[in-house]
Amino acid sequence: MKDKYGREIDYLRISLTDRCNLRCIYCMEEDNNEFFEEEDKLTKDEILKIVSVSAKLGVKKIRLTGGEPLVRKDIIELMDEINNIEGIEGIYLTTNGILLSEKVEALKKAGLKGVNISLDSLKEKMFHDLTRLGDLKKVLSAIEKCLELGIKVKLNTVMIKSKNDDEILDFVNLTIKKNLDVRFIELMPIGVGGKFEGVSNEDILNLIRNNYKNIEEVNRSKDGGPASYVKLENAKGKIGFISAISNCFCEDCNRIRLTSEGFLKQCLHFNYGIDLRKLLRGGASENDILNVIKDNIYNKPEKHLFMKKSNDKELKFMNQIGG
Ligand code: SAM
Ligand code: SF4
Repeated sequence: MKDKYGREIDYLRISLTDRCNLRCIYCMEEDNNEFFEEEDKLTKDEILKIVSVSAKLGVKKIRLTGGEPLVRKDIIELMDEINNIEGIEGIYLTTNGILLSEKVEALKKAGLKGVNISLDSLKEKMFHDLTRLGDLKKVLSAIEKCLELGIKVKLNTVMIKSKNDDEILDFVNLTIKKNLDVRFIELMPIGVGGKFEGVSNEDILNLIRNNYKNIEEVNRSKDGGPASYVKLENAKGKIGFISAISNCFCEDCNRIRLTSEGFLKQCLHFNYGIDLRKLLRGGASENDILNVIKDNIYNKPEKHLFMKKSNDKELKFMNQIGG
């Protein structure tokens, strides 16, 4: 269905948990992170109910995210059951890749169409420094396994000044050798993200232009999401830019978000939305839920205001919202 600004909202991102097996420095604190209570998280059946109602309102694409979605034990059954809901055309995953190798075959059978793997460094030490807990080899082997299985891979990369920003061209070079896209995501001042200085995508693109001759602009496809893309000559994959800060893409936004404790958010930036868990557990009928989601979609805000002060700004961390 369309919101009041005429945008077709057909994409639901679902955070399956706020827990994670990593502690990326711009996403979570090292210790003392606050987590939702287990009983406050949506169950598999509650998630399925919300997806099925959303599908009736025109949602076609689902992304499972987190926290780290692969730490949730029922993810394979959940994906399989979402895949059987009428109207759902594609299920995707955003993951840090640590547990992906061991689960990817079962996920593919359950309907996984494509995976975004977050990877901020190709150097073991820097990868460990940025994630505090990660083992780079596991992520690299997961990438290879996905490519072998023919699952579309996009790498999500956040560049931080004086940390990993000397690796920009190493990531760019991956698109020459491997059949995957690399997308540079600008650091957002959400949660602990505000403690670091990101690299703007404009600076990244300038660096690429200064180092490569033939760079092709790739037309933005309608369902291509918030990234704009370029491609190097003879490269297998594309280079994407998600520039929430320097270039707001809100006018094409097609998504709503469900947090793991059942809060339906219209926009990443704002703290408001609706508590679907309360409604579900309070005995609301399917029709009540449908009307509430319909109203929420219709009233999606026109755009984020990350760079402005506002009282309704989201104060949660990215692992709690679902990035
Ligand atoms: N754990 C999974 C992962 O890392 O892919 C899924 C959830 S994570 C919150 C999703 C994405 O959000 C990751 O690509 C991560 O780099 C990004 N992210 C987290 N905090 C961010 C921030 N402050 N600004 C921009 N991106 C952020
Ligand atoms: Fe975990 Fe993803 Fe946040 Fe890193 S970015 S701490 S992997 S939720």
